[in-house]
Amino acid sequence: MRVKIRKGDTVEVISGRFEEKGKRGEVINVLPEERLVVVQGVNIRTKHQKQVQMRQGRNLNPGRIKFEGPLSISNVMLVCPKCGQPTRVSVQRDVAGSHRVCKHCQALID
Ligand SMILES: [Zn+2]
Repeated sequence: MRVKIRKGDTVEVISGRFEEKGKRGEVINVLPEERLVVVQGVNIRTKHQKQVQMRQGRNLNPGRIKFEGPLSISNVMLVCPKCGQPTRVSVQRDVAGSHRVCKHCQALID
C-alpha cells in the first residue's frame, strides 16, 4: 500500500498505545520504508545526553533533549484541510498528476 501521508500534512492520532490519541499536528517527517511518521508535538520523548547540543534557535536544558518519536502510519489519519475532519483519501489521477481526494467532502487535497 502506498503511503498517502506527506511532510507538511496535518494528521490526527486515531489509535495506538499513545496517550496522544486525538491530538493533531503537522507531519515533520515520513519514513515510508518503516511506515512511520513523525508528528510535531506528538509522542514527545526526552533524550539524556552528557554534552549539551545546541540546535538552531533553541535553548536546550543541559543534558536533556526533547524530540518527537515516530508513530506508525496506521495510527494517524490525514486531516482534510477543507472540511477539517480526519479522513481516508482516495487517489485520483489526471493530466496534472495524482491528487488525494477527501472521502468526506470530495475536496482535492493536493
Ligand atoms: Zn474534506
